[in-house]
Amino acid sequence: MARRKLVYEGKAKILYEGPEPGTLVQYFKDDATAFNAEKKATIEGKGVLNNRLSEFFMTGLNNIGVPTHFLKRLNMREQLIRSVEIIPLEVIVRNFAAGSMAKRLGLEEGTQLPRPIIEFSYKDDALGDPLVPEEYIIAFGWATQQDLDDIVALALRVNDYLSGVMYGVGIKLIDFKIEIGRIWENDFMRLIVADEISPDSCRLWDIETGQKLDKDVFRRDLGNLTDAYTEVARRLGVLPNGGPAAMGKPTLIN
Ligand code: UDP
Repeated sequence: MARRKLVYEGKAKILYEGPEPGTLVQYFKDDATAFNAEKKATIEGKGVLNNRLSEFFMTGLNNIGVPTHFLKRLNMREQLIRSVEIIPLEVIVRNFAAGSMAKRLGLEEGTQLPRPIIEFSYKDDALGDPLVPEEYIIAFGWATQQDLDDIVALALRVNDYLSGVMYGVGIKLIDFKIEIGRIWENDFMRLIVADEISPDSCRLWDIETGQKLDKDVFRRDLGNLTDAYTEVARRLGVLPNGGPAAMGKPTLIN
């Protein structure tokens, strides 16, 4: 088989040229990084789980009218997505204090916030993705005020959907990060949810025990990351009980 053209390689995913114009193939690697890639590891099965979980969340969002880049899963590690122009922002939504916010404000992790709070980081690894106010975003032309209004509305819908889905399986959505892309349809530009939604980019705590079921398990050496992600997938009914190994050979979905 002819090798596909690589479009972009990031820390956890690779993008290849897709079969049709305007599409890409997104490949999920097993690589995990934290603290701006200072901590690195290969975690067997992570890519398979994130491919499935991102498919699950993005399909749910598409089905309730929140547009995403997801088109279809191709096999265990790859999905077909729409090609977008990524807005260089990490859009972070927080329901409970944790991570950098807990540290910055001296709040205990898990403190419920008065309402969901959205913040933006400028996507630049060399700078360590600095937190930026809306005024910077508009002044530097990364997004317009109208874009930001649309992004906030999208982020809040994603938050309500994800919080509800996770609550239904006994998991509290502490915070998450999404990325937004632009697509053009004739002369119209639309903003859609892009990148991935997985335990790599969310904080997920068991409601009863507070056990962490997300990338903090890796960041803070709390145990086996694949086990944590498998638990999320199992509760959501995304995986057979045997975990990633029970998923069988890759099959092409038409
Ligand atoms: N996050 C992410 N990618 C990043 C930074 C943050 O996916 O480059 C996610 C992170 O997993 C968490 C949320 O965004 O769910 C908020 O992260 P925070 O700002 O607290 O940063 P951290 O503590 O991870 O440095």
